[in-house]
Amino acid sequence: MIRVILVGTEGEINLGFIVRLCRNFDVDELILVKPQIDPFSDEVRRFAANGAIYIDSGKVKIYENLDDALRGIGISGCTSSVIDVDGGDIVRKAIELEEFANIASKYSSIAVVFGRESVGLTREEISKCDFLVHIASNPEYPVLNLSHAVAITLYMLYKVLRKHSLFDRIEPAQENELRILEKYIDEIVNIVASDEKQRESFSLVFKRFIRRTTLSRAEVGLLTTFIRRIYNKIRVR
Ligand code: SAH
Repeated sequence: MIRVILVGTEGEINLGFIVRLCRNFDVDELILVKPQIDPFSDEVRRFAANGAIYIDSGKVKIYENLDDALRGIGISGCTSSVIDVDGGDIVRKAIELEEFANIASKYSSIAVVFGRESVGLTREEISKCDFLVHIASNPEYPVLNLSHAVAITLYMLYKVLRKHSLFDRIEPAQENELRILEKYIDEIVNIVASDEKQRESFSLVFKRFIRRTTLSRAEVGLLTTFIRRIYNKIRVR
């Protein structure tokens, strides 16, 4: 379960973008702690585009304080562009987003907290989270736009939690389909290789090549037709 917590959000456009992201990345709850704008305004809906249905889904809640928003959560990360680099300030000692995501993936409920566009999160707010999380970026200007920071964070969590995507709908080629492709490659190799050693190398390099990525059934089908036709043209009848 993923809960996004926004503290004191000031911009309707940003909130609209974040609502859209919550639908894009299948966020279970969006909690707004003391928002400075009307979360149900037309402007928010406009920037949420087809994510606007998320606003009326019951998944958006408004809370008075961060303590209540964090209740019942297994692991939490407060985010900031400002972190301690010389070890003197424990509150601002941060971990990278990727590390947080890997740790968080072992928990069933995860919260990520984002601050105000103007001043971020207070030290007191940061202290309420298990971790301070920083998105690696140019040290000369590491301050991301709020909605962009949310986007990067949600994508990272989406990946480590292995949530669904359109890629799941691609039918991968079956093992026997790859074998048929290999059979035709071997037939061609037998014709063109100059000796046994080269025959083995040609066959092996193809075998490994076609397994380096997950090929779809359609791709393997097309490749097999192509290779078979070459074989039929060059074989000695
Ligand atoms: N001047 C503010 C900037 C806030 S940017 C400050 O001093 O913090 C708004 C929010 O975006 C931040 O509170 C944080 O939640 C998120 N954010 C921006 N850049 C980030 C970064 N590099 N890493 C993690 N979170 C970031």
